[in-house]
Amino acid sequence: SRRVPSQTVWSRDQSTTVTTPPKTIFSGIQPTGVPHLGNYLGALRQWVTLQSEAAKDTTLVYSLVDLHAITVQQDPKQLQQWKKESLAMLLAIGLDPNKSTIFHQSDIPAHAELMWILSCQASTGYLGRMTQWKDKTANEKDSSKKLKLGLLSYPVLQAADVLVHRATHVPVGHDQAQHLEFARELANGFNHTFGGDVLIPPETLISPARRVMSLKDPMAKMSKSHPNPNSRILLTDSEETIRRKIKAAVTDSMDGITYDPEGRPGVSNLIDILYHSDAHPAYSSQDELAKDLADLSMRELKDRVADTVETSIKHIRASYAHFLHDNDHLDSVAAQGAEKAAKSAAITMKAVKSAVGLS
Ligand code: ATP
Repeated sequence: SRRVPSQTVWSRDQSTTVTTPPKTIFSGIQPTGVPHLGNYLGALRQWVTLQSEAAKDTTLVYSLVDLHAITVQQDPKQLQQWKKESLAMLLAIGLDPNKSTIFHQSDIPAHAELMWILSCQASTGYLGRMTQWKDKTANEKDSSKKLKLGLLSYPVLQAADVLVHRATHVPVGHDQAQHLEFARELANGFNHTFGGDVLIPPETLISPARRVMSLKDPMAKMSKSHPNPNSRILLTDSEETIRRKIKAAVTDSMDGITYDPEGRPGVSNLIDILYHSDAHPAYSSQDELAKDLADLSMRELKDRVADTVETSIKHIRASYAHFLHDNDHLDSVAAQGAEKAAKSAAITMKAVKSAVGLS
């Protein structure tokens, strides 16, 4: 099977180290609410950088993964609204439908079809050991009744998303690295079982902002689905809201500012956010930045973080308000994306079905 190095961490200037064209880049985000700073620093910002750096023969495919969203109960009306808002957000961060294929996952049935075929090869034992599954099910006491098959097989659908578009590179946050490893194993396993190079094992592009943590529980990642809205900064938050949330972020009562993710997770998360949000970084590491911040009070540190975050996302907020109200444009972007994605997926499905003996 095709050999590619399995993981690349982005360099500080955000350019990738592996650039052997032609590349196909695929990534997705669940339309489960307005994206937060973790989504932006951990994934979305890189989508835009990849778009602006892309060589002519690079294909960029970005999906709103609504089939993943329904692995947990969703209110149908709310989901429809979120799908629209998420599409407006992808345009607001700077994705260009003429350069990138932007589409809703459920518009392309091939994703679910390939998922089924891959499910017939996927090990349930392996899936049960996935960190995300363990995290999301940790509080469910009666596992047999409450836990849904779709949540267990979430990584199989994710593998299908990537493999159906023959992605060579997948930019994701650190929390998804394990799922991408699983996708590679499924691809290699499929190729081994059915022969040939039908599926391409993708390489993971890990963002330097590996995990932005919750402002309220800095041991947990910042997440769209956490019940406390003050635990995350949304890309639509006003300057005032950003300041209020950062001011109320959980830190500690130690004197001075130091970078120590184990010992001082709250303060270190703020330093991480500052470090990664700065558009013109003057420091080569968080430790170096922290040395310059050493004498600040917690209040001063929080003000500085709020200033930098506001500067880095205010243009997104303004642009989002513009796109959200242009329904015709949103519909036409979705239709254009679905048409391109359907063509891309059909090529893989033809090869897969023939390899398996379905056609
Ligand atoms: P939820 O927590 O509701 O499951 P989410 O906030 O994790 O959702 P996703 O849609 O699952 O969002 O993820 C979209 C992208 O954002 C993925 O590439 C994921 O790796 C990245 N991402 C999500 N949360 C963080 C975080 N806290 N720090 C860095 N990257 C993140």
